[in-house]
Amino acid sequence: MTLPATNVPVLIIGAGLAGLYAAMELEKQGIEAQIVDAAPVLGGRIRTIVVDGEPIDIGGTGLGPSHLRAHAMVERFGLPSRPLTRRGKTAFSINGALFDAQDWENHPANRCVGEEREILPARMDSYYMQTLLPFFEIEGWLDPANAQYDIPFAEYLRGKGLSEEALRLVNMCINTNDIETVSALSMFRDAIKWRSVGFDDPKNFDQYGDAQYKPIRLEGGMVRLPEAMASSLRRAPMLGRKVVRIEHGESGATATFDDGSTIIAGRMIITVPFVALKHVIFDPPLPEPLGEAIGCAASSGNTQFILKTSSRFWEEDGLAPSLWSDTLFERLFVEFNEDDSVNHLRIWINGDNAKRVDEMGASAGEELIATLARIRPSTDGKLEVVHQVSWAAEQLIGGEKYVMGPGQVTRYARHMATPVGALHWAGEHHKSTEVGIEAALQSGERAAAEVAAILQPQAVN
Ligand SMILES: Cc1cc2nc3c(=O)[nH]c(=O)nc-3n(C[C@H](O)[C@H](O)[C@H](O)COP(=O)(O)OP(=O)(O)OC[C@H]3O[C@@H](n4cnc5c(N)ncnc54)[C@H](O)[C@@H]3O)c2cc1C
Repeated sequence: MTLPATNVPVLIIGAGLAGLYAAMELEKQGIEAQIVDAAPVLGGRIRTIVVDGEPIDIGGTGLGPSHLRAHAMVERFGLPSRPLTRRGKTAFSINGALFDAQDWENHPANRCVGEEREILPARMDSYYMQTLLPFFEIEGWLDPANAQYDIPFAEYLRGKGLSEEALRLVNMCINTNDIETVSALSMFRDAIKWRSVGFDDPKNFDQYGDAQYKPIRLEGGMVRLPEAMASSLRRAPMLGRKVVRIEHGESGATATFDDGSTIIAGRMIITVPFVALKHVIFDPPLPEPLGEAIGCAASSGNTQFILKTSSRFWEEDGLAPSLWSDTLFERLFVEFNEDDSVNHLRIWINGDNAKRVDEMGASAGEELIATLARIRPSTDGKLEVVHQVSWAAEQLIGGEKYVMGPGQVTRYARHMATPVGALHWAGEHHKSTEVGIEAALQSGERAAAEVAAILQPQAVN
């Protein structure tokens, strides 16, 4: 049986920040848009879980000074906020040795060479990204003159003389996939953005210290933001609607859902992460290089374990509370409340190690706790996993963030957001001069402006 089709002027696929912001921007121009999302809840990579009554953000967590659009909405919607939960100072487990930050430079476990020895293992990535930047304007990542840097980040760092041990430690802490498979040019874009939040002191590791970077989190969790955005819209987003096929032309597009129903739209804004978009059929197929960019898209792994502890083990061993390691579990964050109490801890695993841990299946949590007990004995018998999430394992998301491989910036970046007939593109993967949450919002704003310019050219001009 063929279900009757619905008609809308604009259909937005994805109720994450990019889709919601695009709908808000269109409404400002008097254009109504219908958002659909396959997930049963709003927010996409903004997700808040509740453990023992405490909201915990397991996706996008905080807003810093560069999140201008997001801060404006927090003000506009009157969302209560507070300083981002402090993550305590960190100890290290490197090459089998356990020590505090001040002991690193002269520790026998420090196998780095020369001046590298001064850089804390947890600052290796940000330090070398900041000090070895070949250009300083963020738009430079799209400048053809910089195409020479569209090479593996590891190759760029080797060329600058880093030892293999320093490279190993960069890889340990970098917030992306393996540095052999990530484009240096895409890393420079993020690094230039981070310059504004002060990650440049190699010897002082205090993640959310006393610099001008004053991150906030939202009371009740970050999900309050997409909820408030959705509530502000005249048309409520339709959830649990999975798009499986998109037919498109110059004058419109039709989305077919997994229940066989369809929505016909004059314009369509697609915010689905490219990794997840591989599961949607386009008729006709998308032109190159866009189709190719989607086909080979990769996202960085991120797997987290939320833990409870039965004791303040850091007071027993006298080391800093949090721990960075070169083992599979990578990082343990003890997250302090303002009154110094601790409700939960978090194991945070990025990139390829996250995917390795995912392959361990149901026993992963227990095995990681056993590893922790071995390398930091004061945790033995104290920790319990209360929640686990793998962003890479979620088919509708596919990972924490879009990652460009060597050669991909030059080949795809300037073409990825070009409209194809009635199809427009948004989402964090279309980042240009922002990253993360702000990139999603910026892309939604840009796509909405494109659509408004077509549907209401007089109002826009
Ligand atoms: C662990 C983690 C920590 C982060 N921390 C930060 C941070 O501190 N600061 C920061 O700035 N950013 C952070 N980010 C990034 C930030 O959360 C994202 O960049 C942003 O939320 C992405 O929004 P989006 O709308 O582009 O995509 P998404 O939120 O991924 O939305 C895409 C939507 O498309 C839907 N979809 C997929 N396939 C289909 C389909 N076939 N049919 C219909 N719908 C579909 C999905 O269900 C999803 O809701 C973090 C992300 C993660 C995962």
